[in-house]
Amino acid sequence: MYVLDSSAFIHDFHTTEQTATIPLVREELEDESAYRYDAMEGSGMHIHIPNEDTTEKVERAARESGDLDVLSDTDVRLVAASFELDATLVTDDYAMQNVAEKLNVGVEVIAREGIDEQRHWKYQCQGCGREFDEEKDRCPICGSELARKNPS
Ligand SMILES: [Zn+2]
Repeated sequence: MYVLDSSAFIHDFHTTEQTATIPLVREELEDESAYRYDAMEGSGMHIHIPNEDTTEKVERAARESGDLDVLSDTDVRLVAASFELDATLVTDDYAMQNVAEKLNVGVEVIAREGIDEQRHWKYQCQGCGREFDEEKDRCPICGSELARKNPS
């Protein structure tokens, strides 16, 4: 089963597998992609509402990986739905891919190259500004916290 995020509807992701999504995704869609959602719902797409325990589990994982700040409520619930349904999450979002990976949820990417990209992230010290290729708890030079920088 595939769980589709809004980018899957926008990019017209096709599959012969059973699909699922969450109601919040519909609110992010307009025009053609919204019609696509309605058509897929009409032809049997499963609309899933993940339970609170799973949603909290995803939030905890996202907090640990430093992704929580950039994830919307919709993003968190999509990862939770994929986890509950034992489904593959279809998304282009790096942070969602990262959290899904942490929870052993499979990810399929639509328009980008995917999870391998996480190796290219850089971590920058909030104190002295030095950059590191690997995540560390603290800057080894000045002891300040590191924050992730997205590759440009
Ligand atoms: Zn530093």
